[in-house]
Amino acid sequence: MAKVFVSEDNLSLQRINEKCIDCGACLQTCTQFNHLAPNDCVNCGQCILTCPMGALVPKYNYKEVFANIHDEEKIVVVSVAPAVRVSIGDEFGFLPGEFLEKKLVGALKALGFDYVFDVTYGADLTIMEEATELIKRIQNKGVLPMYTSCCPSWVEFMEKYYPEDLEHLSTCKSPIGMQGAIIKNYFATLKNLNPKDIVTVTIAPCVSKKTEIKKAEDNDYVLTTSELAMMLREQELDLNKVEEENFDTLLGSGSGAGVIFGTSGGVMEAALRTAYFLLNKKEAPLKLLNLQSVRGKENFREAEVDLGLIKIKVAVLYGLDAVQKMYSTLSCYHFIEVMTCPNGCIGGGGQTVLPKQKQGVYIDARSKSLYEEDKVKTKKCSYENEEIQEMYENYLSSPLSKKAEEILHITYEDKSNVLKATE
Ligand code: SF4
Repeated sequence: MAKVFVSEDNLSLQRINEKCIDCGACLQTCTQFNHLAPNDCVNCGQCILTCPMGALVPKYNYKEVFANIHDEEKIVVVSVAPAVRVSIGDEFGFLPGEFLEKKLVGALKALGFDYVFDVTYGADLTIMEEATELIKRIQNKGVLPMYTSCCPSWVEFMEKYYPEDLEHLSTCKSPIGMQGAIIKNYFATLKNLNPKDIVTVTIAPCVSKKTEIKKAEDNDYVLTTSELAMMLREQELDLNKVEEENFDTLLGSGSGAGVIFGTSGGVMEAALRTAYFLLNKKEAPLKLLNLQSVRGKENFREAEVDLGLIKIKVAVLYGLDAVQKMYSTLSCYHFIEVMTCPNGCIGGGGQTVLPKQKQGVYIDARSKSLYEEDKVKTKKCSYENEEIQEMYENYLSSPLSKKAEEILHITYEDKSNVLKATE
């Protein structure tokens, strides 16, 4: 039976041929979510989650990370994406969606990482840049709708299938891209370290993020939630027993907005909170702190949002299949969030493989857990993050400053020729 083609040089995933029984489940998944051209892979790794034989797995990099941890010359800095703290417990008998941030930090410190940072910092920084970019596009009659750019599989899809529309993608790097850039520049300067001695590692729910190391040299390794569980087991570290610890300071705090990045609709809601503040110079109203119209499980949601000075139309989508079906109708929106995986990164291809019939329950619980955390956070908006404020004051000056454009933004490539070659 036909199966998903995985090339030898795929940076995200690999097939263990001896385990494959040619059942075609991977192709079925790829068709269901993405409807891509035959032999085209955008690295989302959804096939990993549905292969009944465990024949598809992430491209493992954790042994290289161990080698760096053991190298005394290296300063190994790890950052954890929002969705990992509500899924790592699946591997250690915790309840679905249990929020394990402090245990996770304790486990990473026990593994020997020198600094443990939070990608919710990178998410808040992304929002500062992205919300500013959105306002600039609206006020200057720039290219709209603006699409989010934090999902690398979605970006790759645009580069291959809609290269004529690349101007619609926000130029912001993803949160981990921004995090890496700040570590190798700002953090290195403050700590008086040579960036060449720093090894940056991100723990993500995503295999696609592994491709970002090629695009942005500030990220050295991306490990998945499932790889982290393998590291912990190899070191006989049980998450139930590790000490709870806090993230290190400088890039260790995030707002509620940064936390909800892990679920579909989260980036949109986070951006709108900050866009309101930037436009009106006053706190975002309560409605924007609980924007039900962009939350939910459907793969398409839309809303008209009152941002004080202006009203804008927004849409949230997940699954590239949904994008392809709706693409011609999207021009009426100002701002669109797209994620490839079901319900966003909480459903990412780097998460623990669960029985198919249980996946929905776990995804719902992870989403609920992230929104609960947002609810109890005293700071719910990215502009309130004091570490971000301090960094702008001392280093980047302001969103979209020359320095910010240089280290936090990217350009895109027309990759349609790759597609033609695989047909
Ligand atoms: Fe990765 Fe999230 Fe995109 Fe899935 S939705 S490919 S987990 S960034």
